[in-house]
Amino acid sequence: MTTKHIKGVGAAPGLSIGHAVWWRKVSPHVEEQSVTDTDEEIKRLAASVAEAKEQITQLRETTRKRMGEEEAGIFDAHLAFLEDPAYIGEMENRIRDVKKNATFICQQVTEELSQMMASLEDEYMKARADDIRDVGERLLLLLTGVKPFDPSLLQPGSIVVAKELVPSDTAQFPKGIAGMVTARGSKTAHAAIMARTLGIPAVLGLSDSIEEIRNGDTVIMNGHEGTITVNPSPEAEEKARLAIQQQQALREEALGKADQDAFTANGDRIQVFANIGSLKDVQTALDHKAEGVGLFRTEFLYLENDHWPTEEEQYETYKKVLDSFGDKPVVIRTLDIGGDKDLPYADLPEEENPFLGHRAIRFCLANPDIFKVQLRALLRASIHGNLWIMLPMVENVAEIRKAKDLLTQCRQELSSEGVTTGEVQIGIMVEIPAAALIADRLAKEVDFMSIGTNDLTQYTLAADRGNEHVAHLYDPVHPAVLQLVRLTCDAARKEGIVAGMCGELAGDPEMTEILIGLGLQELSMSAGTIPEVKENIRKVQSDQARIQADRVLEMESAEEVRQWVANSPTS
Ligand code: PEP
Ligand code: MG
Repeated sequence: MTTKHIKGVGAAPGLSIGHAVWWRKVSPHVEEQSVTDTDEEIKRLAASVAEAKEQITQLRETTRKRMGEEEAGIFDAHLAFLEDPAYIGEMENRIRDVKKNATFICQQVTEELSQMMASLEDEYMKARADDIRDVGERLLLLLTGVKPFDPSLLQPGSIVVAKELVPSDTAQFPKGIAGMVTARGSKTAHAAIMARTLGIPAVLGLSDSIEEIRNGDTVIMNGHEGTITVNPSPEAEEKARLAIQQQQALREEALGKADQDAFTANGDRIQVFANIGSLKDVQTALDHKAEGVGLFRTEFLYLENDHWPTEEEQYETYKKVLDSFGDKPVVIRTLDIGGDKDLPYADLPEEENPFLGHRAIRFCLANPDIFKVQLRALLRASIHGNLWIMLPMVENVAEIRKAKDLLTQCRQELSSEGVTTGEVQIGIMVEIPAAALIADRLAKEVDFMSIGTNDLTQYTLAADRGNEHVAHLYDPVHPAVLQLVRLTCDAARKEGIVAGMCGELAGDPEMTEILIGLGLQELSMSAGTIPEVKENIRKVQSDQARIQADRVLEMESAEEVRQWVANSPTS
């Protein structure tokens, strides 16, 4: 058997080896037929809708148990479609009007609605187009009685190979799947998020090369590099097995030492924090021994509600997080809305380029009444712990001063109402190249700066972070991005304030040495990678790291940086 090497997008890290199993979508053959008894067709449709609801509710429950409420919530959109008059109601009306069979009408309405949604600019609606296709496929299988793909064909150790995977597919994976490989999808696709939550490697975006993989082929995956090897030589297979064993042993060792603070080999303290997206993530952060929270994305409070969250609702949430971390720092980021995060009740204007638009701090400063509710809630919560308030998408000094003025106003209002407030640190995210370039001036206004490499990368490299077509260009280790990191760290050091990083790059264990060499003192990441990053910090010699960082800053491309760090003894 010939060995094949295929390159895709590394969407969830990890090394694994297993046998390929194709997840083939079954598409029933649909024929257009005339019917006389339309009531009977509508009854058939209703029975399928009821069965679909039952199946989806079960999937929701399995997903909730395995991956948590947030991932399970994806299925709420599916259930809502099955209640939607614009979808199911439209099918019923059309069966009556045109007297055609339910299967044909279901296919027609699903196609029309999903195409309409996919054509909208709004990322949220685009994602709903995939959801409706998923629901439509389920209904068609039920209406035709065709059996769907049988998930029991997957065994522990299987590597799932598919054109595309949607949440209702991944929810059916049995325990012990070794990895997933798909033709479509990017790092931010649902499948990628699910893979990271399940802790299995994923390589997505393989395009047509995926057809070179056959059922039963032995596959080695590197979810970090985005590479797969099909039918490796016995030597390569043996080497991969050894590397997997070592990786496992290192992970266990790192977890055993995770509750010790991380110091470099020469004694510099590097703080390792967790990024959290909601209260549900607090326990995982504590379990992985986070030394604080480096980024609490408060968007969920707004996105999960159908109204602007009240001061009281917000206060309760912030208080709970602060209580959980005692005197450890908790960085709470103020509302980062706009861009790809839409709020239906906010009535945000349509924008040609939402990522370059009216988002985050820009929106908050333009809507002080909304912003002040959050600032008041934060100030009230500040007495419960060590609160650091962080402003997203800052681009100039005036924005910081305006936000600080509003904060002072809120503090005075609360004081005149007899409400006690505590000390807070004020900081900014550096995620726009302009902010990094004038970091020396911004640093004078704040207590800390945290680099958001997810946005900083997309703005520096002009590569949309969610677009699979430019995913090959989007890499935070590009020397241009690293140069902006260095500038920010230098500015922070001169002002004697903390320079941290909370973008995904902070949690890339291969880059720990370089990040320390660039001058970062705090790294914040998904909780799962904390033990490994702490372990890597312990191997770093700061002087040596500085030399390594200087060297990568001179390199020509992200690939060159990646190759260099992969061969470095501490990676
Ligand atoms: C970032 O941009 O790096 C960041 C941490 O913020 P978000 O991913 O929420 O935009
Ligand atoms: Mg950002």
